[in-house]
Amino acid sequence: MLLSSRVKGISDSITMKLNEKAIQLTEEGKVIYNLSGGQLPIKPTHEFIEKIHHQLNFLKSYQYSPSAGFPALRKKLINHFVDSRKLPSDAFENDWDVILSNGSKHTLYNALGALIDPGDEVILLAPYWVSYPEMIKFWGGIPTVVKSNVFDAFVPAIDDIKKAMTPRTKAIIVNSPNNPSGVHYSDAWMREFAQLLKEFPDLVVISDEVYSDISYFDPKPSYFYQIDHSLLSRTIIVHAISKTLAATGLRLGWAIAPGSVVSAMAKIQSQTTSGPNSLIQRALLDFDFHFLESFLTPVKNHIRQNAATLREKFREAGLGHCWYQSTSAFYFMIDFSRTPMFKRFKPDQDHSDAIADELLNNEGITVVPGSDFGIPNTARISLVIEEVPFQEAIIKIVKYLNKV
Ligand code: PMP
Ligand code: GLU
Repeated sequence: MLLSSRVKGISDSITMKLNEKAIQLTEEGKVIYNLSGGQLPIKPTHEFIEKIHHQLNFLKSYQYSPSAGFPALRKKLINHFVDSRKLPSDAFENDWDVILSNGSKHTLYNALGALIDPGDEVILLAPYWVSYPEMIKFWGGIPTVVKSNVFDAFVPAIDDIKKAMTPRTKAIIVNSPNNPSGVHYSDAWMREFAQLLKEFPDLVVISDEVYSDISYFDPKPSYFYQIDHSLLSRTIIVHAISKTLAATGLRLGWAIAPGSVVSAMAKIQSQTTSGPNSLIQRALLDFDFHFLESFLTPVKNHIRQNAATLREKFREAGLGHCWYQSTSAFYFMIDFSRTPMFKRFKPDQDHSDAIADELLNNEGITVVPGSDFGIPNTARISLVIEEVPFQEAIIKIVKYLNKV
C-alpha cells in the first residue's frame, strides 16, 4: 500500500523502540541492563491508586468527558500551577484555560497543530526530546536546532537562539528540566531568555515542564514567566502525570494556555480523540497534590544516589571530562568523543548509534544514542534502575570506554 509522504518523512521514536527492545530481550531470558528507560519502575503513590479504585464505582468514570477534559479538574490544575510556581493569583489576565489530553506527548502534538502552518519554523534547543522534531515535521513545520555540548553544560546560549530567529519562526520549545541532559536551566538563563522574548513579541513559547517535580539539586527549576508574568500570555505550559506520579501508561497530560489556543486544541481533540480517560481524570480531581512530596522524596534520593555512582565511577576511571552534573529529571548524558575507545572512530562524524549498538551487543546495556537528541557522540543514561544493577552497568560502561 502506498503510504503518505508525511508519514514517510518521520522516524520511529527511538526511546520507545529501545525500551521495548530491552523488555523483549529480558523476557527472552537475556541479562540486560536497561539504561534507556524513560519511566520510573514503580507504581504510583497508593493515595492515587485508592482514588482510582474509588472512581471505579461511578457511571461518569466510564462516559465521555468534555473534549478538553472535566472543567473542575482543569480549574484544579490551574490553581495548583499558580501555587507551585508561586505566581500571584492575578498572574493570568482573564483569558486562560486548560486542556487535558492522552499524555503530554498528545498535548504537545495538538499544541503544535494549533500553531503551525506549513513552512513555519520552530526552534528546538539541543539536546531536545526525540519526538519534538518529528511532531513539528508531521504538521508541516521546520525544526530549527540551536546546539550545545558538554562544555556548555548542555544548555544552549541565548545569543545562539537569537541568531536562529527568522521571519518564519513561530515558536520555541523550552524543556527544563531537560530530557535527555538531566539538567534544568539556571535562573540567570531564564532571566536572559525573558529579555530575549521582549525583543520578539510574536514568538510563542511551549514550556515542557513534565519533569519539574523531579529535581534533586538546589536551586530548583525556575521559569521565565516568573520573572515577567506578562509572558504567560504567549506561553503554553505542558505537564503530565507520567513522570510526577509514575503513571506513564495511564496517559494523562495537559496544557495551560491562553483560551484561544485551548479552544483550537479542543477542536482538534473533538474531531480526533475526544477527551482523555474519564476514570483517570476523576481520580486526579480527587487526589491531594500534597502527597506528592512524600512520594517523590525517596525517588529523588534514589536518582541522586545513582547519579553520584555514575560520577564517582567515571572519575575513578579518569573519565571526569565526559559528563556534566545532572540536577533533575532521571537522566545523565555522557560524551564519548574524548574517551580512549573513541580513537577507533572518525572524530568528525556521529557514531553514537554504533556505540550504543556495541554497548548492547557486547555488554548487554541499552542506552539511548545522542543522535536522536541532536548531540552527536553522546548517549543518555537513565538513572532509575536499582542501585546494584546500576552500579554493575556503570562499571561495564567505564571498562568499555577505556578500552583502546
Ligand atoms: N516531554 C518530555 C520532555 C518527555 O520526556 C516525555 C516522555 N515521556 C513527554 C513529554 C511525554 O510524556 P507523556 O506523553 O507520557 O506525558
Ligand atoms: N519520554 C520518555 C523517554 O524519553 C518515554 C518515551 C517517550 O515517550 O519517548 O524515554
